[in-house]
Amino acid sequence: MRIAVDVDGVLAARVPALLELAADRHGTEIGVEEVTDWTVTVPDTGRSLREFFAETDEDPEHLLALSTVPGAVEGMKRLAADHTVYIATYRKAVAREPTERWLRAHDIPFDGYVREVGDGKREVPAELLVDDSSRTAATFADHRGRALLFRRPWNAGSTPENVTPVDGWKDVLDRVSAIDDSG
Ligand SMILES: [Mg+2]
Repeated sequence: MRIAVDVDGVLAARVPALLELAADRHGTEIGVEEVTDWTVTVPDTGRSLREFFAETDEDPEHLLALSTVPGAVEGMKRLAADHTVYIATYRKAVAREPTERWLRAHDIPFDGYVREVGDGKREVPAELLVDDSSRTAATFADHRGRALLFRRPWNAGSTPENVTPVDGWKDVLDRVSAIDDSG
């Protein structure tokens, strides 16, 4: 099976690092659990959390310093042993080189990095997507196959009917095994 894997929120713990950066630079006091809405304004900046997030795509130091999501390294090794694994992220093009460097630095295997993922990652040549955006997961599942959705505060509202929520990498591996077994 071809499996597409998102980076932020699935492999890289981006939001905690982002909030730390916002706290250091702007004195923001937002906890990860409070990130249910990306349109909230980062105090003193006039920019939304979403805009702040996108800006840091252009900061390789920030990207390279990110920690891995628990279980991600081992999980990707297990997936890559039996499947073709593609990295599919909305990060800006400028972030590709540091992202690949970060993946290698953490010994995270992948077979390819998709440059143009398209709206809802529908252009990604895979049958399964692992992501933490409910909208993306639902769109991909609609167009290409199945999607597993990492439960995060920003998708806690409701799970689309066509996606399967997961609580971590162990859960991802169990779900993939179940799909394998079902043929
Ligand atoms: Mg993500």
